[in-house]
Amino acid sequence: MTYVIEGRTGPWEVVIGLEVHAQVTSQAKLFSGAATEFGAAPNSQVSFVDAGFPGMLPVINQECVAQAVRTGLGLKAEIHLWSRFDRKNYFYADLPQGYQISQFAHPIVGTGTVEITLADGSTKQIDITRLHLEQDAGKSLHDQHPSKSFIDLNRSGVALMEIVSEPDMRSPEEAGAYLTKLRQILRYLGTCDGNMDEGSMRADVNVSVRKPGEGFRTRCEVKNVNSIRFVMQAVEAEARRQIEVWEEGGAVEQETRLFDTGRGVTRSMRSKEDAHDYRYFPDPDLPPLVLEADWVESLKASLPELPDERRARYVAMGLSPYDAHVLTLERETAAFFEAVAKGRDAKTVANWVTGDFFAALNRTGLGVEESPVSAAALGELLDLIADKTINGKIAKDVLAIMFETGERPGAIVDARGLRQVVDTGAIEAAIARVMEANADKVAEYRSGKDKLFGFFVGQVMKAMQGKGNPALVNEVLKQKLA
Ligand code: ADP
Ligand code: MG
Repeated sequence: MTYVIEGRTGPWEVVIGLEVHAQVTSQAKLFSGAATEFGAAPNSQVSFVDAGFPGMLPVINQECVAQAVRTGLGLKAEIHLWSRFDRKNYFYADLPQGYQISQFAHPIVGTGTVEITLADGSTKQIDITRLHLEQDAGKSLHDQHPSKSFIDLNRSGVALMEIVSEPDMRSPEEAGAYLTKLRQILRYLGTCDGNMDEGSMRADVNVSVRKPGEGFRTRCEVKNVNSIRFVMQAVEAEARRQIEVWEEGGAVEQETRLFDTGRGVTRSMRSKEDAHDYRYFPDPDLPPLVLEADWVESLKASLPELPDERRARYVAMGLSPYDAHVLTLERETAAFFEAVAKGRDAKTVANWVTGDFFAALNRTGLGVEESPVSAAALGELLDLIADKTINGKIAKDVLAIMFETGERPGAIVDARGLRQVVDTGAIEAAIARVMEANADKVAEYRSGKDKLFGFFVGQVMKAMQGKGNPALVNEVLKQKLA
């Protein structure tokens, strides 16, 4: 299904390419030993290199390089064993060096690909153009003082991966799905925490529109969008603006824009710089970055299982594609599921985790890693069903109590006398009571109203406080009613 926006002159197609800045998970910065922890006191994590002091020399942080290589491998991209750092020159108050060390002509990672899944279940490949390493700038704070701006250099020099996609996306949904998938891959790899609200992942959204069948038209770049929802809104708002420009006989000019999240519109920030404006040149303080093929191979060998592979493995274990998708969205959820599923029936475990467990967890507002019910405890509950100590209905109540009290299921079942009744004598007694109290219905049933069977099951279960063994209740009830 193709996404189009109807204009006055007919349908328009939207073309989107994303440049994602992902902060590398690492203890230290790209070229200095200063710490990178989020939320530290302003200017408390700044070395002389980060502050642009004269004569300070950058030294590459090997872990940041490893993280970029891991990410490249996760994007099924080519790793360039030879890459180079260039200076990108521009003035900004929060850029004390007067340039950013980046990789322009020779990035560390080349072309790759990401598979996205859309709401209708279909998949699409989005190609990656490149990934390069660069330094982040500091931060200007304009809201601390009525007439002054402050500069915080904690972020100055932090390693970023800029991940550039091809203009392969055609709708807000595809852009959202791409970002979601990219973030999932980064989180699985442990190379970026993906926390967009903390700024550790942000997107420049390139948008153009065209008539179906045409070549690409001029794009605009919406800078620094910091949530997936805003990216989707920015695409739509910017596409509608451009359609209007074209339909009024104007021409879209290539420029950098900002998304006003309050008003839901983009506005012009500056005309677009061209590469030559930055006077890129190889950084004379840094030799080319040369990687050994063996080292790259060892990183590849130690890569964790990625979301696509894990999902495929779950489907092979007998889960539905939907359950496999939901259970692999977060690495922590997948780990939880696997801990419960170990030695148990995977499909039953998936049903419980995605069903009652998720519902209860949502009510607490906690993440799976903070769940008051551990994987071991949930496993014990499922064992109590499997060995027929309790029935499935009672198990749901027990799970709710586990969430409330943190008690183990066995203790709850014993303390509250919830063991299911498998004693046929007790079941027969309950059936006799129910039949006596509903003599009219028994007569109706016997004269052919089969549907009443469910009613009797319900009444007998109720008479037994829900603890009857459902299979036995059914069996004995059939005999007695016959
Ligand atoms: P720059 O740094 O000048 O923005 P990049 O090559 O880093 O250039 O990124 C360009 C981005 O714009 C890529 O994500 C690319 O897919 C996207 N893009 C290029 N042409 C178009 C277009 N006509 N419409 C939408 N996006 C485009
Ligand atoms: Mg760019």
